[in-house]
Amino acid sequence: MLTVAEALQKVQDCVAALPPRVVPLEQALGCLTAESIASDVDSPPYDKSMVDGYAIRYADLKDGVGELRFLEEVTAGELPTVEVVSGTTTRIMTGAPMPAGADAVVMVERSKELPTGHIRLEDPKAKPGQNIVRRAAVMSRGDAVLPAGKLVTPTVVGLLAEVGCAEVRVVPRPRVAVLATGNELVEPREKPAPGQIRNSNGPMLAAQVMRSGAEPIVLGIARDDRESLRTKIAAGLETDLLVLSGGVSAGVLDLVPSVLTELGVREVFHKISMKPGKPLWFGLRKGADGRMTPVFGLPGNPVSSLVCFELFVRPAIAQLAGQPLPAEPQYLAKLTEPFTHRGDRPTFWPGRREQQTAGSIGPSVQPLRWQGSGDLRTLIDADCLICFPAGDRAYVAGEKVDVRPFC
Ligand code: AMP
Ligand code: MG
Repeated sequence: MLTVAEALQKVQDCVAALPPRVVPLEQALGCLTAESIASDVDSPPYDKSMVDGYAIRYADLKDGVGELRFLEEVTAGELPTVEVVSGTTTRIMTGAPMPAGADAVVMVERSKELPTGHIRLEDPKAKPGQNIVRRAAVMSRGDAVLPAGKLVTPTVVGLLAEVGCAEVRVVPRPRVAVLATGNELVEPREKPAPGQIRNSNGPMLAAQVMRSGAEPIVLGIARDDRESLRTKIAAGLETDLLVLSGGVSAGVLDLVPSVLTELGVREVFHKISMKPGKPLWFGLRKGADGRMTPVFGLPGNPVSSLVCFELFVRPAIAQLAGQPLPAEPQYLAKLTEPFTHRGDRPTFWPGRREQQTAGSIGPSVQPLRWQGSGDLRTLIDADCLICFPAGDRAYVAGEKVDVRPFC
């Protein structure tokens, strides 16, 4: 059986970034740009006023004071119609283009309208050029403003909009199909009949997909029969990645691996040395366009699904998006209480990290009273997984264990 690290390496070796695609700007958030972007405008496009005030010739102020004849008013979006000649002023609003002839703006707070219609301005600290941003001070038309390979954040969206990119070439958001399997499953809105349980994995995995920055395609529930599995899996193979839950263990109705193989998905590995999650299945399907679609068959127990997604599917989604995750964020913490680990596989045990206080020396972690892979409820209190190595061992309080943040 592969170790977790070996299995993860295989996944990483098999998954490549999606081919770039042009998407509407509104859909680009979180994606990686796949082209460098040049501005198609000067910013600002004209000399503009930074304040509401009066555009003047600086030379018209004597000791910071002037009484000037009012010409016109220009608001943002309008164009000045007359030149500011000596002895005159134009009222100008923030963002409006400077009128010809003017070389400074005095803030409206430093002005007074006189009964004659003249404007009295008092600005003892006035300087030529004040309160004006010059044309193209921020960027010139043709400037490269964004390189390829940049993560699209809200700031980037704003800049792209400013430079006229209503569409942008990016590594697209992966589309990830989620398919739950099991004859016992009913949808969450239904009341389970005897022998039935609700499909909690479907919504949970779709949420994990979303949190990974991908788009979930929810395929509902497939029954444990070949026909139902074939139809739903075939639909899932049309997406960028398919995640199934259930049907990958050794039961008589665990048909997922054989149906996947039948549909041309080549097995890369089945079963890994870990708890929970041992029956994990991973394979690749070569599409008509030559691209490989990764397929994960996660064990059906909810916590197995949850943990396997976190350990293997999330990194795969990140690779599809061209944004490989950094190495596992693991660190050492002290157990707050004794703990006995039993088993021949490494275990990812839900834990809760203690708040660091001024007096505490290093991080510590409490192993939760967890009932095993069917116990999702206890995970509500978890904020990490404690990684116990294989082998029976009684740990004492204060011993250091590996902790992996998780929520
Ligand atoms: P399986 O991997 O199909 O053998 O399922 C293992 C356990 O997980 C069984 O107790 C199933 O009833 C349960 N299970 C399977 N699929 C789901 C699901 N979608 N939601 C909740 N529990 C599930
Ligand atoms: Mg099943």
